Amino acid sequence: MYFFDAHCDVLYKMFLDPTIDFYHSDKLQVTLKGLEQSGAKIQSFAIYIPETVHPDMRFHASLKMVDIFYEKILKPYPHLKLVQSQKDAARLQANEIGAILTLEGCEAIGSDMVKLKTLLRLGVTSVGLTWNNANAVADGALEPRGAGLSLFGREVVDQLNKHHCLCDVSHLSEQGFWDVIELASLPYASHSNAYTLCPHPRNLRDDQIKALIEINRVIGITFVPEFLSGTTSASITDIVRHLDYICALGGENHVGFGSDFDGTTHSVKDLQSINHYPHLIDELTKYYSSSQVEKFLYKNLIKRYAAR
Ligand SMILES: [Zn+2]
Repeated sequence: MYFFDAHCDVLYKMFLDPTIDFYHSDKLQVTLKGLEQSGAKIQSFAIYIPETVHPDMRFHASLKMVDIFYEKILKPYPHLKLVQSQKDAARLQANEIGAILTLEGCEAIGSDMVKLKTLLRLGVTSVGLTWNNANAVADGALEPRGAGLSLFGREVVDQLNKHHCLCDVSHLSEQGFWDVIELASLPYASHSNAYTLCPHPRNLRDDQIKALIEINRVIGITFVPEFLSGTTSASITDIVRHLDYICALGGENHVGFGSDFDGTTHSVKDLQSINHYPHLIDELTKYYSSSQVEKFLYKNLIKRYAAR
């Protein structure tokens, strides 16, 4: 059974350490070898600019990650294909794996629309407006002010709509979330869990989950222990709990997975890397029919994630 994983931070790790080899480095949780062996069909790769990068250098850092994506991830491996649309995904042959380029937070663009348009032209097909703090576009989930989108943020969403680019609400403040629901044509959450089960500001409250379901969008459950159990340890059962909860809110056709591999300090037990996805799949098949499991692993994301 193959799967689509909607978020990982491999580019960030490879940006920090240029000696990392994507094929089989033991410094990575997502490697090409792991994708091949676990049955992955599509993996999203996020451009994430750490706050330690000086604001003047952030756009350059994002270009550097775009370069890593093309030079070190796609180019050496012809069976790894850039996916920018549902059509691209449908064209993938049995031995091919799709790679999606995403932007996690608009820190890279500052308040310069040309920088955003450039990244979209370079192949970015999903944009998260913030990381955890505030930027020129909006407030992040951990920003105490809790403001929504700025005027520039509204222009950013307009631009995303024009480019048929997805707008990722993971990491966004609650008010920002509702602004995006109102303004964006293709909102979704790439890596967020249920707040009711785990009250962390990075998670989505019931009315947010219901809003995404109502407008036929998708939520990627993430494997970050802090967002699953509220502690630094979690199990696959916790992932199933969040999945079950979103299904109970009516989300059987609107839920998938966004691991956040290579972006976290702690891991879920028995799910420490992409290689272990089959452990999750085995657990899912205990509780759900194979057609439901196929939806959670791939179909829900591809249908609504890449509605381009
Ligand atoms: Zn994240």
